[in-house]
Amino acid sequence: MNSFSPTEETIAAIATAVSPGQGSIAVIRISGPSAIEISKSIVHIPGKHHWSTHKVLYGHVTEANQEKYIDEVLILIMQGPRSFTGEDIVEIHCHGGIIAVQKILERILDSPKVRRAEPGEFSQRAVLNGRLNLTQAESISELISARSRKAAELAINGIEGNIQTTIQSIRQRLLNQLTEIEARIDFEEDLPTLEEENVKNEIISIKKDINDLIDDAKRGSWVHSGLKVALTGKPNVGKSSLMNRLCKKEKAIVTDLPGTTRDLLESEIVVEGIPVTFIDTAGIRETKNIIEQIGISRTQKALIQSDLIILIFDYSNGWTKDDESILKRLPSNIPHLIVGNKSDLNHNHSVHKNPKNIFEKEDLVIISAKTGHGENDLINYLLKLCGSSKAHGLDIALNERQLDLAKSAMHSLENINKVFDEKLPWDFWTIDLRQAINHLGELNGDDLTESLLDNIFSKFCIGK
Ligand code: GDP
Repeated sequence: MNSFSPTEETIAAIATAVSPGQGSIAVIRISGPSAIEISKSIVHIPGKHHWSTHKVLYGHVTEANQEKYIDEVLILIMQGPRSFTGEDIVEIHCHGGIIAVQKILERILDSPKVRRAEPGEFSQRAVLNGRLNLTQAESISELISARSRKAAELAINGIEGNIQTTIQSIRQRLLNQLTEIEARIDFEEDLPTLEEENVKNEIISIKKDINDLIDDAKRGSWVHSGLKVALTGKPNVGKSSLMNRLCKKEKAIVTDLPGTTRDLLESEIVVEGIPVTFIDTAGIRETKNIIEQIGISRTQKALIQSDLIILIFDYSNGWTKDDESILKRLPSNIPHLIVGNKSDLNHNHSVHKNPKNIFEKEDLVIISAKTGHGENDLINYLLKLCGSSKAHGLDIALNERQLDLAKSAMHSLENINKVFDEKLPWDFWTIDLRQAINHLGELNGDDLTESLLDNIFSKFCIGK
């Protein structure tokens, strides 16, 4: 892959979280040609011992004057290339908290042969030395910051190389098309003719695969940072009651008077490891009450910013004109789910006989916020939306950087449609194809400059 020269500098940093009273152990990482030599100079090890690779030694880190011990430590030696960075690495495991670990790091940094590591520099070296590919390194960062089990599962998939192999295979298919086309440009007479239709169909199929990745990235970001769900509907249909049931605590005020929920209330629950924030919005209706009007305008804002809108109606009363008018006013670019509440009450109508047949077009779940009937269906719907339910498994989720490049590749491939429609010669096809290939190469880190890498890894935390 990349041909950067190996670095001569040795770097060190604390690799674990630093907090007083927290964590019984802490780890300091040193990587580079002087890692072992520096460790030897600051550690006292009793008895006979060898600094052999992939072994653990026991000893004490001493003060600079060698008179006192700073801490009791375990030392793990990993000679390159069999190490995370591919260089010689020494890990010093000391006691947790903040003082001992910081004193040991200072002791290491006293040596002129070592400097403090920049954020993400260990991972960057791992990539430069071919120990990890770029998307794997990014996935490690995502695993560390994962807030849900599903986010962690996606990150592990990335570490296993799923993003890399998926993108590589798409890129290879584009390269195959480019090779065929270029051969026709150079040696047209010697080769069988290339059917434009076949090339076009293969590009359509590749575009579909990239589009799926783009869609999944959105669901992946919900898994990673949570899903925002706005509850809306006429006053008194049970929005607050549903939110209370889901959040299992009385946060919204539930009353029998229409229009009581005038402010926005937020509650977060964790559904199978995915954080879901519910926003209970004011019921939308025509009103002269100024306070209620303010609530309604906040509702509109909350609706636009949410990932899903749940429109609740009173199932025991049936679908009404008011419900229909709220549905019509929902922002069209945000997915919505219709929930019929109060299924525990008697009703002698059929919502499915609605003249507009909206339930054939819209997703519908019937529940009772009072008894809990249908609650699981609702939760399953949310999980399905996030790609967490088994049937709709999400295996790969591109991060923001990767998503931007996938979109750029897609954009380049869209241009090919024009070339095809206007029946332009083969040369024109190659320009956009090559561009798409380059974008995917950058996504995978096949074609990286050092400054681009610096930029990516500077967003990592120190010690990684
Ligand atoms: P909101 O204005 O939409 O937030 O509605 P609320 O949650 O304040 O509920 C209005 C009234 O309907 C209250 O008296 C609730 O107890 C009642 N309610 C809510 N959900 C149900 C339900 O599933 N079944 C029954 N029977 N009553 C409900």
